Amino acid sequence: MTRPLVGVLALQGDVREHLAALNDSGADAVGIRRPEELEKIDGLVIPGGESTTMSKLLQIFELLEPLKARLRGGLPAYGSCAGMILLASEILDTRPDAQHLGAIDMTVRRNAFGRQVDSFESDLDFEGIVGDPMRAVFIRAPWVERVGDDVQVLARVPESGGAAAGRIVAVRQGSVVATSFHPEVTGDRRVHELFVDIVRKV
Ligand code: GLN
Repeated sequence: MTRPLVGVLALQGDVREHLAALNDSGADAVGIRRPEELEKIDGLVIPGGESTTMSKLLQIFELLEPLKARLRGGLPAYGSCAGMILLASEILDTRPDAQHLGAIDMTVRRNAFGRQVDSFESDLDFEGIVGDPMRAVFIRAPWVERVGDDVQVLARVPESGGAAAGRIVAVRQGSVVATSFHPEVTGDRRVHELFVDIVRKV
């Protein structure tokens, strides 16, 4: 598989940026809105946006159960920000009816960084990614408060991050990856390249 076909869940959020990042990273990228479109893809990106809105749209578009089934079957996935929230097995500070996909054994807290810091940027070390530290853009981001034994922590907020220092902001379980931040907006393609590499190897 030289250029795998990677879908971007295209119900809401920053879909275009992920399509561009995937195309730059050696994949053919396609927006996904219908259950049957899930069948042909080798991997899926769930973009940033608003997780409770996306949760509602997943149900309206009848994608929730087919997507859960494909994830259970081993479909590689990458979720950024709201996408991370949807991939979690438990969400704190969300609406009671919000659905989640349970693809990573972790507890995430929505809008965790607080009102004063809706958006901020930080340089991170990212496990498995070599070279310069990664510029991470956080926009009303979640953090991870608990991970299961099978979950690998890939990045944390650095010491300079004040009250949030040490918080987990990137994880991987098998072929499912999630980040609190938005690599699709910086032009740094290393997270998308890492994900496309996972998709190729599955
Ligand atoms: N705060 C949003 C949510 O709860 C996530 C923000 C984002 O994806 N940039 O879904």
